Amino acid sequence: MPDTIFSKIIRGEIPSHKVYEDAHVFAFLDIGPLSRGHTLVIPKQAVARLDELSDESAAAIGRVLPRLCRAVLKATGATNYNVLQNNGALAHQAVMHVHFHIIPRFEDGSGLGIKWGAGKLDPAAGKTLAEMIASSL
Ligand code: AMP
Repeated sequence: MPDTIFSKIIRGEIPSHKVYEDAHVFAFLDIGPLSRGHTLVIPKQAVARLDELSDESAAAIGRVLPRLCRAVLKATGATNYNVLQNNGALAHQAVMHVHFHIIPRFEDGSGLGIKWGAGKLDPAAGKTLAEMIASSL
């Protein structure tokens, strides 16, 4: 996979405001924050999408993500937040290296704006679809 700006950040070739690092994970402040404390959590493994991530990297992120959320909340005083993870340009991914956004949401409206176009799940179609997904695992 071609190098992205996030691989350069992990290697220290591009500066960042680092908040956490271990053998598999790196976290730093987003340069274009949606709100104060907007933090990015990335695996050191350089893959573009979550479905490409190794179990080892995924486990390492899962282990530390709640702790990073708690730290962002404590530091900013926020009590509400979103965790966002985009995959593919159509899904708003701009940097093709897996990343989780931790985005505090404040009373002033700063944070993640969400357009949630909920539909209605048909029970029969839902049964078939759930079986298809389950058998694809
Ligand atoms: P996404 O749309 O999910 O791919 O988000 C990419 C995020 O990376 C955006 O929120 C950018 O502001 C952020 N970003 C891009 N370059 C940098 C950088 N050099 N340092 C910190 N954050 C960055």
